Amino acid sequence: MTNPVDIQIPAHLLPSDGRFGCGPSKVRPAQMEALAKVTTSFLGTSHRQATVKNVVGEVRSGLASFFNLPDGYEVLLGNGGATAFWDIATFGLIETKSQHLSFGEFSSKFASAAKQAPWLADPEVLKAEPGSRSYAVANDEIDLYAFTHNETSTGVSMAIERPAGATGLVAVDATSGAGGLAVDPSQFDCYYFAPQKCFASDGGLWLALVSPAAVERIERIAASDRFIPAFFDLKTALDNSRLDQTYNTPALATLYLLNEQVKWMNEQGGLEWATSRTDRSAEILYSWANEAGFARPFVEHPEDRSHVVATIDFDDHIDAAAIAKVLRANGILDTEPYRKLGRNQLRVAMFPAIDPEDIAVLCGAINHVVGALEG
Ligand SMILES: *Cc1c(COP(=O)(O)O)cnc(C)c1O
Repeated sequence: MTNPVDIQIPAHLLPSDGRFGCGPSKVRPAQMEALAKVTTSFLGTSHRQATVKNVVGEVRSGLASFFNLPDGYEVLLGNGGATAFWDIATFGLIETKSQHLSFGEFSSKFASAAKQAPWLADPEVLKAEPGSRSYAVANDEIDLYAFTHNETSTGVSMAIERPAGATGLVAVDATSGAGGLAVDPSQFDCYYFAPQKCFASDGGLWLALVSPAAVERIERIAASDRFIPAFFDLKTALDNSRLDQTYNTPALATLYLLNEQVKWMNEQGGLEWATSRTDRSAEILYSWANEAGFARPFVEHPEDRSHVVATIDFDDHIDAAAIAKVLRANGILDTEPYRKLGRNQLRVAMFPAIDPEDIAVLCGAINHVVGALEG
């Protein structure tokens, strides 16, 4: 049998950029070139001064315009990434009891954070098997519905809609979906994400688009006698965000790269353009998988198949891990599946920064590798 790492992929089957990981994900070279231009004027300067605050302000207004936020919605940010935001939400956004759609690794983590918080009632957790999704059920006891726009661990996405008859807030972990999947802001109260996925920046930051109802909730809980550590205090984040600042020092390069990506996406045509691009990538990749003969989409129902993260299962006689290894040796990176899913699978990000042409070339490269491994 051929030693996988010796397989050479011909040049015409190599994408222009080999980064297909789900986060950190492809940063466009133009973002880095822009950052290099402010090496001595922006990097290494105070985050309490106008130079940095203006960039934060541009990120906030750029996102408001990208998502077409209605009046009264605000853009908040802070340190710690999406994972920190789960704890922040248990302290400052859930009043008593939450309902969680748990259908993969990330959605289950917020559910367990809420379950572990002794000041909250036990959450209602509606589970679904990996590769499928669960559906919210409105209930007057629930004051926050926790959704996940795109379950990055399985490649399942869900449309964001308020459950019929629900009175609670709708909070969405949109970390890998925000910027690449369509969303109507009237359907959520808090849409939060980290910028290392569709927004092509680096990790460590969280952003949250919040409705007036969410702001009211944040203020009410902050005024109650609940103990909230300062780092997890959403009211503190709200106050700082309104001043284009963060509570403690942010990563300036991350903010700059994020702003460059938001500006680029707005210039290209905003969310509508971004989703048309991810739709095209998804069409290319899933069509290829359906027709390959040796592979198929892992997610059974086409309407659940994510347009930003594709998961592709391979026939047992083909070792997907070997494919990923050959791809990696040829500079095509991070196509390995989510570790804990334990499937004979490849996972491919189709974020807006990733050129649909490169997705098409990648499909050809996989065909080539499978042929070489079989031969
Ligand atoms: C990546 C990801 C996270 C974790 O983000 P961090 O910034 O690493 O905390 C959470 N939720 C989803 C859906 C993700 O894709």
